[in-house]
Amino acid sequence: MASLSLKGIGKRYPNGFEAVKDFNLEIEDQEFIIFVGPSGCGKSTTLRMIAGLEEITTGDLFIDGKRMNEVEPKDRDIAMVFQNYALYPHMTVFDNMAFGLKLRKVPKEEIEQKVLEAAKILDLEQLLDRRPKALSGGQRQRVAMGRAIVRNPKVFLMDEPLSNLDAKLRVQMRAEIASLHQRLGATIIYVTHDQTEAMTLGTRIVVLKDGVIQQVDTPKKLYNEPQNLFVAGFIGSPQMNFIDAVCKVHGEEVRLEFGDFSIVLPPQKAKKLIDGGYADKTVVMGIRPDDIDDSQIQIETYGDTVIEADVTGYELLGSEVLLYYTVAGVNMTARVDARTTAKIGDHIRLALDPEKIHVFDKESELTIT
Ligand code: ATP
Repeated sequence: MASLSLKGIGKRYPNGFEAVKDFNLEIEDQEFIIFVGPSGCGKSTTLRMIAGLEEITTGDLFIDGKRMNEVEPKDRDIAMVFQNYALYPHMTVFDNMAFGLKLRKVPKEEIEQKVLEAAKILDLEQLLDRRPKALSGGQRQRVAMGRAIVRNPKVFLMDEPLSNLDAKLRVQMRAEIASLHQRLGATIIYVTHDQTEAMTLGTRIVVLKDGVIQQVDTPKKLYNEPQNLFVAGFIGSPQMNFIDAVCKVHGEEVRLEFGDFSIVLPPQKAKKLIDGGYADKTVVMGIRPDDIDDSQIQIETYGDTVIEADVTGYELLGSEVLLYYTVAGVNMTARVDARTTAKIGDHIRLALDPEKIHVFDKESELTIT
């Protein structure tokens, strides 16, 4: 398999639009890298540059140490799986999988061996004689994967491969792709805008916005330690709550004030704000819905971070409830235990987990703590 190195990669389309800017990333052998970001942020463009389907305007692309900028797509040893995995309708599953190898004039016995091997991995052995129209969506998706696998490429590129599947099949295929990654020991670069796919599949996630990398990290680090407001808001569902607050310093104590509320930050977080010179400045406080609770025990434990809110919405998810409410005129969300007694129209108390409070610089939008 393969390692990739993207050094200062940029893409300017002929119309002058700069879709990707100074993209730097080292991808190790066998990594499962995810590109996420809002629509139009440059995910597909970057993937297509790696595949050789789009010219690289600036920077260098290396695969296993070899510069690839001018190498033809077919010679890059890369296989790409797209969202509309167009299979040849008149060919059987076997022939669909064998097609690329036939074009390459691979000997017949070798083709057969490779297709059978891939069919085994993908559980397609019973379906080799069928045509695509006689397959389910998930089975077709697996054939598309099979076409990529038989080529035994150094790198797999996948552009939203599951986006055409229904919810249940997506979950199933997600698990299959994860196990495929394990079994093949493959290097995979995968584009998605699905949070769950990104968080469950990726060994590392690249968050993009307007063609610029915002952060590259493991799913856990992205969730717990976002480097800026954008990443904090983009990763996690429902999204992190944000509220403007004024930073008040009294000796070593730091309070964040908003509306009628004043919450005390834990000492290490307080120190960051004092050291950063944020006294009396407006900052953005962030807290995830999971880190806010209306239980009596939480309210007693976290007396320094209790706020009051008006409940405006209630959504039962099963064992949990999403509570929508307003605090000091700002709409917020909390994910609480379904045993909550809160109802729409109630005025309730909520406690924030102080260790889980994020604070961002209002201007630069960078994380302070
Ligand atoms: P999505 O999630 O919607 O697929 P994406 O992150 O994959 O989006 P890209 O397809 O990489 O985004 O496009 C990045 C930007 O480049 C977009 O603003 C798009 O409009 C622009 N773009 C794409 N192709 C061209 C082109 N051929 N000429 C000019 N601009 C283009």
